[in-house]
Amino acid sequence: MVAESRFGLIVHGGAGSLQRSMRKDIALRRQILRKSISEGYALLRKGGSSLDAVEASIRVLEDSGIFNAGSGSCTTIEGKVEPDAAVMLGDLSCGAVAGASMVSNPVSLARACMEKTDHVFIAGAEPLRKFARSIGFEIHDLEPNKMRLDQYEEYMKKMGAGELKEWPKNSALLGRYLGQEYGNLDTVGSVAIDADGKVCAGVSTGGRFVKLPGRVGDSPIPGAGLYADSSSGAACATGAGEEIIRVSLCKTVCDFMKNGLDAQAACDASISLLSKVRGVGVAGIIAVDLIGNYGLARNTEMMPVSIRFSYSKKALAVVLPEEYDVIYSEKERNLGKLKM
Ligand code: ASP
Repeated sequence: MVAESRFGLIVHGGAGSLQRSMRKDIALRRQILRKSISEGYALLRKGGSSLDAVEASIRVLEDSGIFNAGSGSCTTIEGKVEPDAAVMLGDLSCGAVAGASMVSNPVSLARACMEKTDHVFIAGAEPLRKFARSIGFEIHDLEPNKMRLDQYEEYMKKMGAGELKEWPKNSALLGRYLGQEYGNLDTVGSVAIDADGKVCAGVSTGGRFVKLPGRVGDSPIPGAGLYADSSSGAACATGAGEEIIRVSLCKTVCDFMKNGLDAQAACDASISLLSKVRGVGVAGIIAVDLIGNYGLARNTEMMPVSIRFSYSKKALAVVLPEEYDVIYSEKERNLGKLKM
């Protein structure tokens, strides 16, 4: 068992910049993040595993249609969805899927990959469809929802302008076809520690708008989009997948924790490393260490999060950049309880 009642989880709703269109959804986002954290936390409080808590918290976000995962997934250049998801445990068990457009909850298919196969990663709609069927998952083809289709149209309208910042090579490749701003990303992820001290990380994403079909981001890649290790803790990333992969961001966070930094210091150190080598406006991370500290850091404008640990009085759900102070003062209050 972790020292008395030191369990909890932190969930994120994607790193990126605050777009005007998001302002109208702030209350809804907060409400969904609260629901996600309370479902995950309820399981931990009953003695459930960090894996159950991570999966449950991510399923809420996948089902919301607001975040960039599951039914809210963004689209490829062809206007289709190709979600990626993964889970990883401290004993290094992991399962990942890429192109999981045939199930409502890609995170659960990733869990099934971990628990029911000898593999770590299965990619591609057809193989995944067969796998999902063989283990009794309900097949439900995900289509982009109205919000994502409208956004897709907007991106496509921008194509002709040749103002692509994020995908310069694709832009050259596809000429007038691509248009992308690194903005409303909304990917989801969760890290948890349970009452037995076991850690887990999980992620689920639609990827990035107007990505090429077949593109796999960092999210399902152990070491990049997530990592968990019983000798360090668990971490989960969000943001520009191509950059996160290049620096193995989550493994970096866990290595810092292994070398003695607490979760917050490890997140700060990893993000400043990333900023140094790949610039700012790129990514965010959340992490939990083995004694139940949580950490979060970003070099983007925002990264909505919700947090609930057994030593804190209540759940926090922070969406807007100006709200982060609440987290830091809550951390301050808990500091005495946390340092070991
Ligand atoms: N990291 C995800 C990807 O590149 C996107 C995100 O986190 O928003 O696919």
